[in-house]
Amino acid sequence: MKKAIIYLFFFFFIIINTSFTILSESILIRIYAHLKVTSVQIIQSKGNYYVMADATTILKTKNTDVLKFNLINDSVNLMLNDSFKGRYKYIKIIGSNDAEFKIKLLNPDRKIRTYQNNISLSVVEEGLKLINEVELNNYIAGVTEAEAGSRTTLEFYKVQSILARTFALAHINKHVNEGFSLCDQVHCQAYFGKPKDSNICSAINLTQNLVVVDENLNLIIAAFHSNCGGQTANSEDVWGAKTSYLRSISDSFSLKMPNSKWERRMLTDDWLSYLKLKHNIPIEKENIRQAALKFNQESRKIYLECNNTKIPLKNVRQDLQLKSTFFNILPLGKDSILFIGRGYGHGLGLCQEGAIKMGKLGYNYTQILNFYYQNTQLIDLHKLNFFKDE
Ligand SMILES: [Zn+2]
Ligand SMILES: [Zn+2]
Repeated sequence: MKKAIIYLFFFFFIIINTSFTILSESILIRIYAHLKVTSVQIIQSKGNYYVMADATTILKTKNTDVLKFNLINDSVNLMLNDSFKGRYKYIKIIGSNDAEFKIKLLNPDRKIRTYQNNISLSVVEEGLKLINEVELNNYIAGVTEAEAGSRTTLEFYKVQSILARTFALAHINKHVNEGFSLCDQVHCQAYFGKPKDSNICSAINLTQNLVVVDENLNLIIAAFHSNCGGQTANSEDVWGAKTSYLRSISDSFSLKMPNSKWERRMLTDDWLSYLKLKHNIPIEKENIRQAALKFNQESRKIYLECNNTKIPLKNVRQDLQLKSTFFNILPLGKDSILFIGRGYGHGLGLCQEGAIKMGKLGYNYTQILNFYYQNTQLIDLHKLNFFKDE
């Protein structure tokens, strides 16, 4: 395991061999990874850029220059301010350290976003593959806004940014066979470019390089969810694998928050036929039918037991698209039942709304992370390099 960390660490330092700029700790993120992009505009908005096409520098751009890229057959067609520049297999737009660009997808049509640092374009599966080569901290900032939402507290941004960094390093090889590290979708971590809230940059500056590790100094699985409903879950009850730090804890901070509670009304017949068809429960029998209309969890259970059949609650949640597995069931009138639920999400690791509340009560990010991830510590990611000598 220690060797793996060293490898991840070195993979991380991608030095661009150019006198123009050196990004010391950058990461390759495929952006718009879920879309088949065939036409896109890129407009330089800050700093200086030059364009390399098939390994040759072909032009320098100035602010407001519009570069347009269209997929034509298996090549990228490049226009600068409406004049044709050439057709290439691979184009890289390389900026100064402070450089930013705006990107406007034309096909499919999407709103303008702002990204920092470099971008490359190539052709993959009848679409353009867009890869943002971005400083780690800029990437972490973008993820923090996408995952935490904007307009939350500084302390919560610190927490979320440490988790984003931990996740990124732990999964740096997730897409390595496709030529990048992470995609910009929830498959990896949501990332939509430069954040709008300047508090996020402060949070990142105040938690430089920190990652969460377990007692063996391995990067943790940085699981988080919206609200645990008062009690978090054990990893083995949700994902099957036991970890020392994803342990069920009682969390009163998450009560009385927006996602603490939920309700769902359902027709009794729909519930019973679900039990019959999906789990083979003999609901024709009156006593079993009656028993199936009530369910109670004082603390989190793993199964809904019905006629000696154990139905995993995570399956019920998924099948019925419920906000959580932490629910009770009550009969409601003659023909309905009511799910009365607590929390939102899988319940593992950090509870976002509980963490926000802790921050407002004056707990700092270290205390918040130690509360939700038991037996862990914060460490400077560069210290993981120590293992090289062992
Ligand atoms: Zn991914
Ligand atoms: Zn909670």
